[in-house]
Amino acid sequence: MRLVADLHTHSIASGHAYSTIDEMARTAALRKLEMIAITDHGPAMPGAPHAYYFGNLHVLPEVIYGVEVLKGIEANIVDFEGNIDLPLDYLKKMDIVLAGLHAVCYPGGSTDQNTRAVIKAMENPQVDIIVHPGNPVYPIDQRKVIQAAIENDTVLEINNSSLTVSRAGSCENCLNIARAAKEMGATIVIGSDAHTSFDVGNLSTSLEMVMEVGFTEEEVLNTSIKRIKEYLRQKGRKRFL
Ligand SMILES: [Zn+2]
Ligand SMILES: [Zn+2]
Repeated sequence: MRLVADLHTHSIASGHAYSTIDEMARTAALRKLEMIAITDHGPAMPGAPHAYYFGNLHVLPEVIYGVEVLKGIEANIVDFEGNIDLPLDYLKKMDIVLAGLHAVCYPGGSTDQNTRAVIKAMENPQVDIIVHPGNPVYPIDQRKVIQAAIENDTVLEINNSSLTVSRAGSCENCLNIARAAKEMGATIVIGSDAHTSFDVGNLSTSLEMVMEVGFTEEEVLNTSIKRIKEYLRQKGRKRFL
């Protein structure tokens, strides 16, 4: 299985990431990726850019060094109602919107509260991908979340950095999510969550897990540029209409 896109990366604008968009795109090209999404953290995270940053992303070229660059955000789910931290006008301009639970931005709750927060975020038609749902700091009812992902046409991420450098203790949760997603027929995506250009396209640990579980290419969003564009078009993303 070949992954042609990395749909979860951070530039220096995130405040705790270390490479420019130029460097990210250059590395993506060197590593033969056809597409990357720049998905800097939403404004609620300390050090993250103001909403204006997201509003102005259209000044960037759509293709850099031959790599299609999606202008996106990794929004913060900020409460148990699944609200996220970018106003609708801005969300509508994005090429892709990821959302997830992060310390400082989200109060943290019981399994029921976390599950509700994630499901409510998925019910927001502006949310395309739920990132790192396997984070053990925020336990969720995995099957309920997967079911809601299917019903709301949202994709769940198997986050490569969760299996390597971040969110210790994620491996078992991610494996269980992958197995249940496969069984229930949900689409998944693999993201690097790169915070430096050196990690752009670092997807191999998640890819191994997903292949072990028996996913086919059709069930993994970022195996096909055509499928990614079709998905984002279906979600109403302007760039692909
Ligand atoms: Zn980050
Ligand atoms: Zn994150």
